[in-house]
Amino acid sequence: MFEALKKQIFEKIREYDRILIARHIRPDGDAIGSTRGLAELLRNAFPQKDVRVINEDDSAYLSFLGPEDPAADDEFYRTALAIVVDTGTMDRISNKKIGLCPALIKIDHHIEETPFGDISWVEPERSSACEMIVDFQQSFADAIPMTKEAALFLYQGMVSDSGRFRFPSVTGETLRLAGVLLDQGIDTETLFAHLYLEDFDYFRFEAYIYEHMQRTESGVVYLYVDKAMQQRFGLDREQASNTINYLDSIRGSIIWLAFIDNPDGSIRVRLRSRFVTVQELALRFHGGGHDRASGATVYSLEEMNQLIREADELSRQFKENHEGWL
Ligand code: AMP
Repeated sequence: MFEALKKQIFEKIREYDRILIARHIRPDGDAIGSTRGLAELLRNAFPQKDVRVINEDDSAYLSFLGPEDPAADDEFYRTALAIVVDTGTMDRISNKKIGLCPALIKIDHHIEETPFGDISWVEPERSSACEMIVDFQQSFADAIPMTKEAALFLYQGMVSDSGRFRFPSVTGETLRLAGVLLDQGIDTETLFAHLYLEDFDYFRFEAYIYEHMQRTESGVVYLYVDKAMQQRFGLDREQASNTINYLDSIRGSIIWLAFIDNPDGSIRVRLRSRFVTVQELALRFHGGGHDRASGATVYSLEEMNQLIREADELSRQFKENHEGWL
């Protein structure tokens, strides 16, 4: 599928000597993996090209993968093809100089709200942007061979964005493409140790989560990770945000939410669900995202309670009108 579009992207890449790759702010494993993986593939395939991954909010998250590239001068931007991966909207691009580039390609798996880019390849049903990058590589495997280094970046992103290949977006194609990466001989024991080991004290926090989570009448489970809680357990942003994942396996809870105090006083909301769609709910609270994984922001405890009430109502209505949910 999308062969003509992929061909256009391939031709554009061939055309330019300089390529700038960017991702979204507050990167996750998929944003980091897809951009770094694509860069590795292109550097290997086209050694004469200057390929750089440049973003403004460098993240300590996944530091075992090494740093991105340092800032470039305007001259680089003015002659570079920009490729933005895993980023739904322009305001979430973590590189404000990208407008200087003469051409922009978007490769993404989020539901498209406001299209952007001269060439835009968007497939919301894909489990990860990394999956799309591997698919792209496979379409031009003779010209762009897979490498072991790229495979590590891409496999990491596929694993982390699909909940270890558990989410409904995972298809046979996902696993076939993941297989291409495993064939390169990735050291998965070390990778998973980097991804999933936590310090001893973190498990004290986990126990605290289960003590403090709340449940509404219709089964929405939620947790408020306020500043005091973050300080008490010495959580960085990533760890505070990841608390959402502890709430994902509670029987009868088809929607779960985490509220995380931001340093600026606003509250980040992470919305997750089984069976039911939460994207519209997120859109009503300054957010958006995927059907069953969205993000939003609220600006007061009242607004937070309003969101919880609306989630409760959504869950109640869904349960009343559907069978087979767990
Ligand atoms: P998160 O809980 O932050 O991982 O977000 C889940 C999904 O929703 C991600 O794919 C994000 O791209 C998207 N998302 C998060 N926050 C927002 C926002 N404020 N506006 C639009 N989409 C968002």
